[in-house]
Amino acid sequence: MIEVSSSTDSPDQRVKSDASREPRDIQGLSENTAPVENASEAKPKPYIPQAHEQYGLLPFLCEHGGEVFSYPAELDYIDERVAEIEGETEDDKRKVTVHPFHAKSYDAYYQSLADLAEKYRSTNPDLAEDIELVIDIIQSMNVKEEWSIVRYVGDQFDGDPLAEMHDLTKGRCYYWPCSNAHPVYEGVIDNEETTSFLYPCDPDSWEIVEDPTGMAARALAGDADTVDAWRTELVSQADSFEAHMAELGAAPKHKRAPSVQDFIVHEDLADSEQDPVDFTCPGCGGDIHFEAWTLLNAKKDPELAQRLIQGTLSEFTCPNCGYMANLGHPCLYLDPDHNAFIYHVLDEQMAKAAEDMFFEQPEGRHCRIVSSRLQFQEKAAIFMANLDDRPMEILKTGIVGQSKLQGLVPEDDACEVYFSGLGGEGELLFDVEIGDDTFSSAIDKSGYDLFASDLGKSSMAGYDPFYIDRTWAHKAIDAFEAEGIAE
Ligand SMILES: [Zn+2]
Repeated sequence: MIEVSSSTDSPDQRVKSDASREPRDIQGLSENTAPVENASEAKPKPYIPQAHEQYGLLPFLCEHGGEVFSYPAELDYIDERVAEIEGETEDDKRKVTVHPFHAKSYDAYYQSLADLAEKYRSTNPDLAEDIELVIDIIQSMNVKEEWSIVRYVGDQFDGDPLAEMHDLTKGRCYYWPCSNAHPVYEGVIDNEETTSFLYPCDPDSWEIVEDPTGMAARALAGDADTVDAWRTELVSQADSFEAHMAELGAAPKHKRAPSVQDFIVHEDLADSEQDPVDFTCPGCGGDIHFEAWTLLNAKKDPELAQRLIQGTLSEFTCPNCGYMANLGHPCLYLDPDHNAFIYHVLDEQMAKAAEDMFFEQPEGRHCRIVSSRLQFQEKAAIFMANLDDRPMEILKTGIVGQSKLQGLVPEDDACEVYFSGLGGEGELLFDVEIGDDTFSSAIDKSGYDLFASDLGKSSMAGYDPFYIDRTWAHKAIDAFEAEGIAE
């Protein structure tokens, strides 16, 4: 039996979630009061890509240690659920949190989230799943190579007696976080160096230094959804904290984090991903290591899509005994050109997770869940050929029926038909499997066109469910008959 193992293990690093220690408090404690804990321990520096080293970014953290994070708005909601479960109602006494406020490095933070997901897996599986989803999203949001670097050249804070309260220094470079998956302005990592906060995108106050996604240029051209004033206007009565801050002359900070939704919708921009799988050779019992494609973007990697369609993507050969087979492993296939996502799942639980993910997808996207490699391969081929798998599935039941009528398939034998591609004359090619034999068959496209037209006229026309298979085809045929559409 081939076993697929997950392989996200990494060294066990736990975040200290000692809520009483802000980085700045460490400075404040110093010699006179309590000794600084682990003073001899080297403080981890924030991650700064080599190409960014020249810009003097994150000077506070470079001196004192720590890391900055961009994270989605939903983290607050997840954190509330964690607080409730842990019975931690007082904000300042929180021991367990999903927020990155005290995390020292990306790895330590992701590991702490993975540990929490594991902790809740049996008691609160939904929460565990949500935490795992945000780990992926937060990872994609914190690739500093994708962030813009912008120099603050404005005069807003010049000669201001409250200047030290302000969080930008003229002439200094700042990170504007964003990601390839969601290249939209979300704020500036200011002198506080924790996360991003909104500042006006006033083109006279900023100079772009690095802008790999073009986000900063778009934001400064007026595309940013941000605050429009450098100062919140003074209000006569300080009836809120923000108003009180405004009276002091300090601009209250606004954070507008992107939503998980932004990333799910933009998944069609994702890069293909591989995961290592170690399993035992069914031929000789030796160890086999395989790099399985778990995410495949057909637009970015058309040659991988071709391998999937030809059935060679998951093929392995044992280096020991030469045993050859296909490895069954989960894979999400993205075909942005045909607005189709196909999830190959291995069990019920994965199917459920795929459904949850697909419910978030925008209208009009064809989302399919399949549980066999051949269906996976076939659906990829259908969308790639610019066809619709719904009339195709109806046509296939017709091919099976016809083969049985003509005596090509014994009435009681199993017969599977899979679309394999377009023929030279534009006809549709199929593999017909009867028992252990496979035959190729070419069929004129008119049959497909007929069912496509029937479907368009029927009540099933706008119905685009996750599972399109033989069961669905029979349902459609029944509907055609009931509605007097079929001939
Ligand atoms: Zn072997």
